[in-house]
Amino acid sequence: SLSERLQEIFKKLRGKGKLTEKDIKEAMREVKVALLEADVNFKVVKDFINSVTEKALGQEVMESLTPGQQVIKIVNDELIALMGSTQSRLNIGNKVPAVIMMVGLQGSGKTTACGKLANLLKKQGKNPLLVACDVVRPAAIKQLQVVGANVNVPVFTMGDKANPVDIAKASIDYARSHNSDVIIIDTAGRLHIDEELMEELVNIKRAVQPDEILLVVDAMTGQDAVNVASSFNERLDITGVVLTKLDGDTRGGAALSIKAVTQKPIKYVGTGEKLTDLEPFYPNRMASRILGMGDVLTLIEKAQAAIDEKKAQELGQKLLTKQFTLEDFLEQLQSLKNMGPLDQLLSMIPGMNKNMLKNVDISEKDLKRIEAIIQSMTKEERQNPSIINGSRKKRIAKGSGTTIQQVNSLLKQFEETKKMMKKFADIDKDLKKGKMRL
Ligand code: GDP
Ligand code: MG
Repeated sequence: SLSERLQEIFKKLRGKGKLTEKDIKEAMREVKVALLEADVNFKVVKDFINSVTEKALGQEVMESLTPGQQVIKIVNDELIALMGSTQSRLNIGNKVPAVIMMVGLQGSGKTTACGKLANLLKKQGKNPLLVACDVVRPAAIKQLQVVGANVNVPVFTMGDKANPVDIAKASIDYARSHNSDVIIIDTAGRLHIDEELMEELVNIKRAVQPDEILLVVDAMTGQDAVNVASSFNERLDITGVVLTKLDGDTRGGAALSIKAVTQKPIKYVGTGEKLTDLEPFYPNRMASRILGMGDVLTLIEKAQAAIDEKKAQELGQKLLTKQFTLEDFLEQLQSLKNMGPLDQLLSMIPGMNKNMLKNVDISEKDLKRIEAIIQSMTKEERQNPSIINGSRKKRIAKGSGTTIQQVNSLLKQFEETKKMMKKFADIDKDLKKGKMRL
């Protein structure tokens, strides 16, 4: 499988202390073959390999990771990016009823997915209605009724003689008069894409203006799934994909290519025949599943946390030796800003209270102002802010083109930060004493 192949390739890298350009290129060549054999779209593979190679060659050294581990991290990050980075939710707004249209080839798992989705929405407090618009496949209506009964959701049908567009339209009125707030339309499929089917789907779409058009594709069909997704997307401008049969022996190619090729996210995955076997699609979980290297990924996460922790400990050290001044404060603000969102950084520190930092929220503009204020202080004032009295404040405000209130607010921020630093220092002490573990 893809996962096994990648593990083999990375095992070789992990053993090495130092990676040469040749090592990386050789590994990437193998990854490329593995991806192609897993049925990932050719162009997707090409872009992916280029991007990973470029990043791997230009990577900064993280002291706690081996070069091999760093390459794995890059591959993992790129896999996640390929699949859309974040989990995509259903986009059903306030229209009543919301309309979800399920489309796809025959046997892809549409009818099953209708039932699974109805079940999920019901658990979220919705009141769904299933709509039987597949009048082609023998016993399709009966199948939907069985599915509906299993999840205890009503099914709207007008038999198999009615026109699917009429059924879809009528179902909206039915939903309104029966308190259903979301309708899920099961449509007909074909063994292959054909014009008649597409036209029917386009007509249903036009008639009911769905909030979501979810394409159901069978993950086992690999590259075909991607082609199918492309064609349906061209005609219907789908809003997302349900990737089914991920429980089977899939090669992973479809999951990796669909977003890149169609620009539409995978929203759910089907993981079995039961009506509870539907899960939201998480790109990061899928990536670690494909890489099959939970241990390494955990290690990488820890290494990153450790780097931030080290910075925090250095700050704590400064405070313990009473060296933390307004100059340090300025420097810390700048480096915190470089490290990314403050709350993210904070969440890594146990016992950290986010409210403590309410006054330390910094923007580019704030930072410029803070810089100007601190630069208008004398060295003595920066070392020992407690001497800054009213007349000094007035002078500082004037010198920095700010107001006394702004000087006051900075001094307050400094005190808050000092408190925060103290907290870091305490955590550091506790860690050393073994009272707390990260
Ligand atoms: P439709 O023709 O698109 O409506 O497809 P169906 O919903 O009738 O499903 C076709 C077959 O695929 C049925 O036997 C389903 O039980 C099966 N199936 C659907 N989704 C999944 C899944 O996620 N995993 C597995 N293993 N089987 C599935
Ligand atoms: Mg069906």
